[in-house]
Amino acid sequence: MEAKYKCKYCGETFEKPVQLAQHVRAKHKRAKRREKERVGLEALSGKVNKVIEAVGILKGLQVSPNLSEGERKILDNVLKNIEDLVSHLQK
Ligand SMILES: [Zn+2]
Repeated sequence: MEAKYKCKYCGETFEKPVQLAQHVRAKHKRAKRREKERVGLEALSGKVNKVIEAVGILKGLQVSPNLSEGERKILDNVLKNIEDLVSHLQK
């Protein structure tokens, strides 16, 4: 009994991996690309969440009484830039 290679998109089986690869290339090019895009988007949203966390930390720092007026302004600017960037990424 030969090993069967099953297509993960439609369930069709093939005798050889090379046949499966050809089949996927011919029939499921789009699905493959969509999957790649989805994985990329998930990775990006994970990174965005990390940045949002960092923004929370910076906001905590911003209200610290130890900051000078100048430092507060710099932090304010940094936060504005990051939040701007995040809002673009989340669209
Ligand atoms: Zn298939």
